[in-house]
Amino acid sequence: MHPLSADILVIGLGPAGLAAAGALARGGVKVLAVDRHPRPGAKACAGGLTARCCALLDISHDRPWSFSTRLHQIEVRACGKSALLKGHDATIVTVDRVRLAQQKLEELRDLGVEVRLGETARPMGYEAVIACDGASSRTRRGLGLPSASGIAALQRRYTQAQAMAAGLPFDRAIVWFEPKAWGCGYAWSFPAPGEVRLGCGVPMSHRRGLRRRFEEFVASLGLSAQGSRLEAGLVGTRYCGHRFGRIRLAGDAAGLASPLTGEGIYQALVSGAEVAREILEPGYLSPVIPELSTLHRRTVRALDQGGAASILYPMAPALLSLGLIARLTASRYVR
Ligand SMILES: Cc1cc2nc3c(=O)[nH]c(=O)nc-3n(C[C@H](O)[C@H](O)[C@H](O)COP(=O)(O)OP(=O)(O)OC[C@H]3O[C@@H](n4cnc5c(N)ncnc54)[C@H](O)[C@@H]3O)c2cc1C
Repeated sequence: MHPLSADILVIGLGPAGLAAAGALARGGVKVLAVDRHPRPGAKACAGGLTARCCALLDISHDRPWSFSTRLHQIEVRACGKSALLKGHDATIVTVDRVRLAQQKLEELRDLGVEVRLGETARPMGYEAVIACDGASSRTRRGLGLPSASGIAALQRRYTQAQAMAAGLPFDRAIVWFEPKAWGCGYAWSFPAPGEVRLGCGVPMSHRRGLRRRFEEFVASLGLSAQGSRLEAGLVGTRYCGHRFGRIRLAGDAAGLASPLTGEGIYQALVSGAEVAREILEPGYLSPVIPELSTLHRRTVRALDQGGAASILYPMAPALLSLGLIARLTASRYVR
């Protein structure tokens, strides 16, 4: 690969790389964007987009995508009880991430970005490099930074027939909070186009024996592991800067996913675009990335200190309605 065929190299074409390459090309610079996978987006992910993420991607009620499913309710299950959350904040759109990437790649090509799939590139010989190579970022390692991974996650996908036989609903997401199994993580069921995604995510400190706990959970729902591939992934939640001279990090590689919920698509899209803007506008220092990371630092500190009340704020409505906060605090929900 000729290193000078472009001014800027984007490594990785997940949501962060797609957003970064698009913003750079719109800003008029020559971009080479590479992904080592021939089909970016084919990774372990529940593909759940929150309302703020849908707004960013311009997915609305009036313009549904053929490869998305809109869920208007989240059922929260904990300690044998359940509560139903409804309304704007409980709306999740699940997407097929491969098709989302394909759509965005077409846009990049139309913008003149040179896209190479199934290839890697060394970050040398370019004016600037944006590394969007995910939670196990090789570029980040090369900079001597600690790993970005803060959450370990497992997932299986089931056909609608299999899910229906197990009594899993298609009209809502379900999240399970079960401190013994997931620590301060959780398990989920996300109906998606043509399938139901069943998974769990836990802090790295709680990942020992995760596979066994997850398979027990799957079996407890009456689902079989046969015919469904076990997918494993890490989520990058450990931010320690994103500007390193010519090299910048975005998305999971920068550790910007939420350490609490594992949501990372929104943060990847936002940080990819912000990092591109920092390159296009010398002197511009993104105020958004420090905001995301400060919020995360607070969450991580609260997790470390065991301040259950402050950690559980996003789930507060459900947990309050279940009368669980006191019980969870008493049961040392947070270790
Ligand atoms: C099981 C699981 C479920 C999840 N569910 C959700 C969810 O429902 N909603 C949500 O918002 N987030 C979810 N996440 C988190 C989300 O997947 C990530 O936060 C998000 O994908 C980060 O985007 P990214 O662009 O930074 O990195 P990624 O999407 O990981 O993309 C990185 C890309 O870089 C490529 N790459 C890696 N190394 C190289 C290299 N050396 N050279 C070239 N290319 C390279 C990879 O092939 C990949 O395409 C989940 C994560 C997991 C593991």
